[in-house]
Amino acid sequence: MKRVIGRLNPQDKHITIWGAGFSGLVLGYYLKDLGYHVTIHERSNKVGGKIHTKKTSAGLIETGANALYMNADGMDLLKNLKLEPLPATKKLKRFLMINGKLKRPVQLKILSKLAINGHKKPPLISDGLTVAEFFRPLIGEENIQKFLAPVLGGIYATPTENLHFKSVFYDFSHVAQFNSYWDFIKLAIKRQKSKPRLEISGSVSFEGGMQTLINRLAESLKPNIKLNYKEKFEIKGNTILCTDAITAAELTREVRPEISTELSRIKYQQLSSVTVFMKREIKAIQRSFGALIPLGSGLNSIGVINNKAIFPDNNENVYSYTFISRKKCTEEDIISDIKSLNRDFLPEDIDHMENTYWEKALPVYDIQRYLSIKKLHQLAKKEENFAIFGNYVAGISLREMITSAKIFANNPLNYVEK
Ligand SMILES: Cc1cc2nc3c(=O)[nH]c(=O)nc-3n(C[C@H](O)[C@H](O)[C@H](O)COP(=O)(O)OP(=O)(O)OC[C@H]3O[C@@H](n4cnc5c(N)ncnc54)[C@H](O)[C@@H]3O)c2cc1C
Repeated sequence: MKRVIGRLNPQDKHITIWGAGFSGLVLGYYLKDLGYHVTIHERSNKVGGKIHTKKTSAGLIETGANALYMNADGMDLLKNLKLEPLPATKKLKRFLMINGKLKRPVQLKILSKLAINGHKKPPLISDGLTVAEFFRPLIGEENIQKFLAPVLGGIYATPTENLHFKSVFYDFSHVAQFNSYWDFIKLAIKRQKSKPRLEISGSVSFEGGMQTLINRLAESLKPNIKLNYKEKFEIKGNTILCTDAITAAELTREVRPEISTELSRIKYQQLSSVTVFMKREIKAIQRSFGALIPLGSGLNSIGVINNKAIFPDNNENVYSYTFISRKKCTEEDIISDIKSLNRDFLPEDIDHMENTYWEKALPVYDIQRYLSIKKLHQLAKKEENFAIFGNYVAGISLREMITSAKIFANNPLNYVEK
């Protein structure tokens, strides 16, 4: 499925984008690079949307994305922006909480399931297939909950029984059925190997945090970013909506009622992102990326990120951890989680704590989202100068948005994707 809904009129060199989050900025950047005159209308008083690095006296706090996972397009973008990436520390351990204990995610238990059940035929890859349904015959329900759910939950913050297979495994959605799980694994390995080798792989941030990337994108679009923009939405000339789906539904209610109704069906997951600066290390996750925590484990968080271990240059004199939770968390909730990880924790170990609550943190990548996006593509077929983009259309991660924006900007009239 195409990753940008609608299309633009390339004869009209003026484009108005609504929303200066990452999607609006990156799409604006590529379009401007191709000679379009881009204006961005942003409702709030700042650019970046969910990406914002706060500089506090205790250290840097990322309120949303804390890293860009590299791909070839990401690498190109950084080169064009003349932005030096700060690579994450290599070979950090990754932990997964299993029965209350922190363990390595690749477990003998899973490998033996692959050996025993790898020959089995997976379910048909239908439009309605969920991730849990696809993997259940291979690893069984218990392992889905213990291993797969926390791993995918770390990206999508959605239970595997709701996660839509074709949306998550986008690269495999053209295959109607695999003969065996081995065939699926072989294709995954082949895809991985065919990807170009990058000078810098894995996660990166920037000196000063993710805000540096946002600021660089914004600088390239200045002075045409209008902050605190509160005018009524209209489709006048080439127009691209780059807000979340709920806002997009509100904005289009009068001008495109059918599109608005479909957009309003897309659900969102709330998240709390709590950064804690500590005087002492949490020993259990020392020298690690952090830990993934399954739902139902008794903790309030679904994951903790060890910021100092990942990006030591941005977290010099402090131990910094970010706890992500699927609910609105209190400081007590996070302290209780720290105690579960660190039995000898003392309240005075905490230097500073900051809580960011996102009511509409991430779009839920479920079947409803897939069906709505399909319908939106149909409804937008007759559009000539109106497009919709954002992390509910193009993929949740920044790198997916970079790739989609680049492809779209190159051919906004007859946009096709390989
Ligand atoms: C806690 C958290 C951690 C994450 N970690 C990562 C990570 O490590 N790596 C990664 O790749 N991704 C990560 N993500 C995902 C990534 O941050 C988001 O997918 C991305 O930032 C969303 O960008 P967006 O432009 O689609 O939406 P938004 O960031 O929501 O931007 C939308 C913009 O539209 C503006 N707007 C709203 N209404 C209007 C209006 N009426 N008129 C004009 N403007 C309007 C908003 O103010 C905002 O600036 C994370 C997300 C969260 C919440």
